[in-house]
Amino acid sequence: MFEAEGLMVFYENMLALNNVSLKCEETQIVGIFGANSAGKSTLMYTLSGIILDIRKKEEMAGGERITIRGRVQFNGRDIISDKPSSRARAGIILCPERRRIFPESTVLENLRIGGYLATSSQARETLDYVMTIFPPLKRILKRLGGFLSGGEQQMLAIGRALMAQPKLLLLDEPLLGLSPAIQYLLAKSIKEIRDQRGMSIIVAEQYARPIIPIIDYGYILENGAAVVDGGRQELMDNPDVKSAYFGT
Ligand code: ATP
Repeated sequence: MFEAEGLMVFYENMLALNNVSLKCEETQIVGIFGANSAGKSTLMYTLSGIILDIRKKEEMAGGERITIRGRVQFNGRDIISDKPSSRARAGIILCPERRRIFPESTVLENLRIGGYLATSSQARETLDYVMTIFPPLKRILKRLGGFLSGGEQQMLAIGRALMAQPKLLLLDEPLLGLSPAIQYLLAKSIKEIRDQRGMSIIVAEQYARPIIPIIDYGYILENGAAVVDGGRQELMDNPDVKSAYFGT
């Protein structure tokens, strides 16, 4: 249902994505694993359409030239030229790296802002769901976003993305900077969200270990290219993948 083909992204002459193709079927969790600078964020920006906004901003500021090639299809329709806002309306929602929650708004306000695409009954129902899947948020609804721990911030960031009613949720390094215990907890929640809400999820992460148990399929990104892909077990059994991404 979601398919990217031959994605190429250049920042000026620097190739950040090199002919990347990937698929995410309905209700699948797909992992994208890669080291720093492998191109994970660029890929997430390209799938969500944010790259078009970045390109426009650079053009207007007389900055670097960004070139985008390839196809992104959602339910059979080519959306590579669609703005991020229209992709969001279609259900493609990005939860960006480093969380980007609003530090001066409360937890509840952050969640309500996320619900701008939802009807009021959807917003109410999803808010209840977010409290069920992330119970710690319930106790801190009035706290400012800037005063949350890393784990709470990430729960809020995912909760806010859920409020936008995703059909495809894009998570960019959701575990970054969190303790191993919180990482495993969040990975479990991500799987529960898929199981309970039936959405598709693409999750980009540097360290595969906490994420690999919850994925259906995964891709390894190196220097902007998808060099290995396979099902969960296949990736776990691949010795190169194991030593580079599982730390074993
Ligand atoms: P990280 O884990 O550090 O976020 P990443 O896998 O998300 O890494 P990207 O941020 O997509 O990687 O970066 C891919 C490559 O493109 C890197 O070499 C990076 O330096 C480069 N790059 C990213 N954004 C820009 C930009 N706006 N202008 C020029 N080069 C960029």
